[in-house]
Amino acid sequence: MNTYKIAAIPADGIGPEVIAAGLQALESLERREGTFRLDVTQFDWGSAYYKANGRMMPDEGIETLKAYDAIFFGAVGAPDVPDHITLWGLRLPICQGFDQYANVRPTRILPGIVSPLAGVGPGDLDWVIVRENSEGEYSGHGGRAHKGLPEEVGTEVAIFTRVGVTRIMRYAFRLAQSRPRKFLTVVTKSNAQRHGMVMWDEIAAEVASEFPDVTWDKMLVDAMTVRMTLNPRSLDTIVATNLHADILSDLAGALAGSLGVAPTANIDPERRYPSMFEPIHGSAFDITGKGIANPVATFWTAAQMLEHLGEGRAAIRLMQAVETVTGDGVMTPDIGGSATTQEVTDAVCEAIRASNI
Ligand code: NAD
Ligand code: MN
Repeated sequence: MNTYKIAAIPADGIGPEVIAAGLQALESLERREGTFRLDVTQFDWGSAYYKANGRMMPDEGIETLKAYDAIFFGAVGAPDVPDHITLWGLRLPICQGFDQYANVRPTRILPGIVSPLAGVGPGDLDWVIVRENSEGEYSGHGGRAHKGLPEEVGTEVAIFTRVGVTRIMRYAFRLAQSRPRKFLTVVTKSNAQRHGMVMWDEIAAEVASEFPDVTWDKMLVDAMTVRMTLNPRSLDTIVATNLHADILSDLAGALAGSLGVAPTANIDPERRYPSMFEPIHGSAFDITGKGIANPVATFWTAAQMLEHLGEGRAAIRLMQAVETVTGDGVMTPDIGGSATTQEVTDAVCEAIRASNI
């Protein structure tokens, strides 16, 4: 029997609510499959830990996580801790420390969920957004001079390297190649940003020549928002920078019904280190503790985790169970239902038990 060591970091806000739901679904899958075991360790890192210890995780946190096969992450963010501290104190050090340079964000409209786009239903919107996850606009470089003075200057430096752009481009072309339509859209802002973004375009063309069976096109990020909204069927696999893909994937989540259904995988494609799986959404203070957080994004990312671990059948079984449950209308209020997190979770666990693939 395969055993996988999973580090669960529920962290803040609704993070603990959705991670608890995800772990229940994973336990049901373990029982249903009978072929693998998840050895889960929970870590209490996050904003409460920060308030007690002055840091979001222990100094040796990254070292500790190295011993795991995957990281199952909730969300960070608390009303009384600055966002740049929670993000740079926990989530980004994991992404960057483990060089999880490919951030993979599938978007589909699940059965029973109504897109805000008129006339767009399941099958009309089936995208995977690949987000460059190690450099670009979130490289952390920059600074502030003359703090507080009228002449204060702040810089936020976007860094693009040939190595970084080439590897994410190859990842995206390979992913596009593995999907039925074999079609990739490369997003930049190379009209206004004339250095790193022009390099993206050039590297895209170079890498494209390695994948003659993949069709590809280019979009500027502003026009891309229009295409996603007005012509969702024209897109399939999408690759964009750290910032651009961050924004586009929130839009994608909303177009697929809610941020509450949008998953993400932070992958180290070379498998040197553990990869991290999380819902796209944040800690959602407005609904924390109400028992109505949508667990679907977390189920979906749990399926991404199982697939990454090599448990493809369990991943398919989990997504089929989720689609059965949304199709039956058992949904949280953000997607128009009246069920609680626990009711949706129980229904998914039951669908896993009843499934016979
Ligand atoms: P958010 O994603 O937490 O919430 C945005 C809106 O979507 C809210 O109205 C929320 O109720 C709703 N929503 C989000 N997830 C939901 C779910 N599972 N079910 C139902 N509704 C859901 O974004 P925000 O409000 O901009 O940020 C709140 C905090 O989260 C901030 O501190 C921010 O920095 C942090 N944040 C963290 C991450 C992360 O950990 N990866 C991502 C985004 C935001
Ligand atoms: Mn985001």
